[in-house]
Amino acid sequence: MILQKQVSQNATNRDQVRPTATKMTFKEFYRKLSPYLKGTYKSAPDFVDGIFIKSASTNDDGKGITATIEKCSKREKQRIVQDERAFARFSRKYAPSFDVELCTDVLDEVIPDPSLEKLAGDFESDVPGINFSNCSEKLAYLLKGILEDAAERSPGSKAQKENILRQRLNDESHGECPLCHKEITMIQGKQNSLTPLLIDQSGEMAFENCLASCPDCYRSFEGKDEREKLQRIKDALANEEGEEDSINESLEKAVGLLGKLRGDEPVMLEYQGVKVEQKIPPKKNTYFYKKVLENVTRYFPALRSAFQAEEGKDGWSFQGLAEFMRRNYLAIASKETDQEKIFDGLVQIVMEKAGCQRTPAEIIVSYFVQDCEVFHEISQ
Ligand SMILES: [Zn+2]
Repeated sequence: MILQKQVSQNATNRDQVRPTATKMTFKEFYRKLSPYLKGTYKSAPDFVDGIFIKSASTNDDGKGITATIEKCSKREKQRIVQDERAFARFSRKYAPSFDVELCTDVLDEVIPDPSLEKLAGDFESDVPGINFSNCSEKLAYLLKGILEDAAERSPGSKAQKENILRQRLNDESHGECPLCHKEITMIQGKQNSLTPLLIDQSGEMAFENCLASCPDCYRSFEGKDEREKLQRIKDALANEEGEEDSINESLEKAVGLLGKLRGDEPVMLEYQGVKVEQKIPPKKNTYFYKKVLENVTRYFPALRSAFQAEEGKDGWSFQGLAEFMRRNYLAIASKETDQEKIFDGLVQIVMEKAGCQRTPAEIIVSYFVQDCEVFHEISQ
C-alpha cells in the first residue's frame, strides 16, 4: 500500500504560532526588543544573563550551559549581542538547551504589559499574527528560530551541526517519522534512529530542506526525486496548529452530514461490501466484521454523495479528513495489532474531536475502512 500524505487544503493559510523560517538576525532582534524591556535587561550582559540563562532547559544543567554563560566575562556577553559571529558560536552550544516555554515566561516578566501592543506592532512584519496577547510566546519562538539558524550556519564541527539539525527535525515531527508515523529516537545507532532526509536531493543539508525519517523510510526515499511529495509533508508539519482546528470542524461537519441523511437512501449491494471482508477476516471476529459491514452497506453510498456535494464549500476538503484518518490509523496500528482495538481508538478520536456519540463515530470510522484509509488488505 502506498502511503500518501496530502496537505489539508484549508489549513495552508492559517497563521502559525511557530515561525518556521526567519531571516532576522539576533542583532536586529535585540535592537527591536531592548527598548521595551524593564530597566536592568536593557544592557547586553544583563540581557544574556536574564533571558538566556533563565530560558535554558533544566535538563541540560548536566552539560553546564548555565554555568558556562555565568562564567562568561561582561565583554564576552557584550560581544554575543553585538557580533554575529560571536552569537553564532554561542548559539551552537546554547541552542539545544533553549526552552520556548521558559523563555515565554521570562519575556512575560520583563516586558511591561502596557507596551505589549506597541511591541507586537513593531514585530508584525517579522512575525505574522503577533498581537499583545501572544506576543511573548511568538517572540520566544522567533528567538528559537534565530538561535537555531545561527547555530546551523556557525562553523562548528559537522557532528554538532548534525545534532542540532536532528533535534530541530525531531521537534518538528514530534518524535515520529512523518512518512510512516512510527516512533523515532534521537539516540544514534538504534534501529529507529532519526535520519535526516533531503527534500531536494541536490539541495543542502539544512532544516528547511530536510524531513525527519526512520531508517526504513530513508532507504526507500533516498536518491529519488520525490521533492513535491516531501515538501507537502514539510508544509503540513508547519501548518499543524491550523490543521488541528480544521480537522475538528471537518469531523463535526461529517457527523452533521450523517445526521441529515433521511434514512431512505439506497443501501450498498452486497458485492460492494467485499472490501470489508478483505480487511477484517469474517471468521476471526464475526461481530466486529458484521458491525463494520453493516455500517458500510447502510451508510457508505449516501455519505459519499454528501461528502462530494460539500467538497470545497466553506473550505471543506474530504482529502484533509481522509489523510487525518490514515495518519491516526497508522499511529495506532504501529503500537496495537488487534483490529477491534485499533477501530476503537479511532472511534475515540472522532468522538472527542467531533463532540459526538459513539454510534455516529463508528459509522464514520467504518466509512474510512471502506474508503481504504483504515486497515490494510489482508494478503491472501
Ligand atoms: Zn518511516
